[in-house]
Amino acid sequence: MMKALRLESVGRVHTVEVPPPSATADGKEVLLTVTHCALCRTDAKMWRHGHRDLELPRIPGHEVCGILEGEPGHYAVWPGVACGVCPYCSSHMENLCPSMKIIGFHRDGGLAEQMLVPRECLLPLPPRLKPHLAVLAEPLACCLNAVQQAKTRKGDRVLIFGAGPVGLMMSLAVRALSAQPTMVETSSTRWQKIKSFCERTGLKVEPQTPMEAFDVAINAATSLDTFTHGIHGIKPGGCFCLFSGLDAKGLVPSSLLNEIHYRQLNITGAYGCTRKNMREALEIMASHPGPLEELVEGFVGLEGVKEMFPAILRGEVMKIIVPLSS
Ligand SMILES: [Zn+2]
Ligand SMILES: [Zn+2]
Repeated sequence: MMKALRLESVGRVHTVEVPPPSATADGKEVLLTVTHCALCRTDAKMWRHGHRDLELPRIPGHEVCGILEGEPGHYAVWPGVACGVCPYCSSHMENLCPSMKIIGFHRDGGLAEQMLVPRECLLPLPPRLKPHLAVLAEPLACCLNAVQQAKTRKGDRVLIFGAGPVGLMMSLAVRALSAQPTMVETSSTRWQKIKSFCERTGLKVEPQTPMEAFDVAINAATSLDTFTHGIHGIKPGGCFCLFSGLDAKGLVPSSLLNEIHYRQLNITGAYGCTRKNMREALEIMASHPGPLEELVEGFVGLEGVKEMFPAILRGEVMKIIVPLSS
């Protein structure tokens, strides 16, 4: 038997003892012994509200690192199961595959001692990267996808709404392209939290949208205001990337849409990441592990996860990691 966290229905989550899944005879699906799984705001959102791509009951967890019995080294998990043959899969956009099944959403994820993973989802860790940090490869890869979708170029000035774990990782992704990130964060409690991270990395945070014009804006926060301020904050010909899903409240006025027309703005979206994004993220992390270590607020056991969800939803904690089998 193995221990796992199971989301039974929206609002109901338990620690359970269940039989471990079994690897398939053809070797395509292997049994991964999970060493670490990070909690994401999306996991907390699933528990509180459900999610478009969630099928219940489900073992959540999509930011995962683990080992294979009898093999050396750790693997990070690309949490997608794509068909491999459609036009998206054939052109390195497998995150858009129409038959995509997301690990932790449509299939069981990493908040368990063991999980079933397609072999082709496993990415070996670069030798210098610590396994507990490798769980951040997935969120960083999603951020890399966003900055790439926004066609961010070297030297571009990029406005990022929100300075939670995702906003900070987005800033690192922007830096990886030799562009210049500026975060906007309105919460003073969050300012306290990220002070040392920003001092150490030299990242800029502003309490409100600066007056100067940016090449790119990306939301790592859910308020519709981020879209309004972002559209006004970018230069003619600039790009706004919708990264975080916006909360359901509010309507976009046509006067704001006309800004897109008159100033020839580009609007793009980003959802998930590709294997290539994951490999890029692992390389970035292996060469700059220092700032990532500071994103980790702490560790909790499976039993402690439920208590963390409200604080994660309120944006009060940085990354929480669940250590599983060691
Ligand atoms: Zn996530
Ligand atoms: Zn496909």
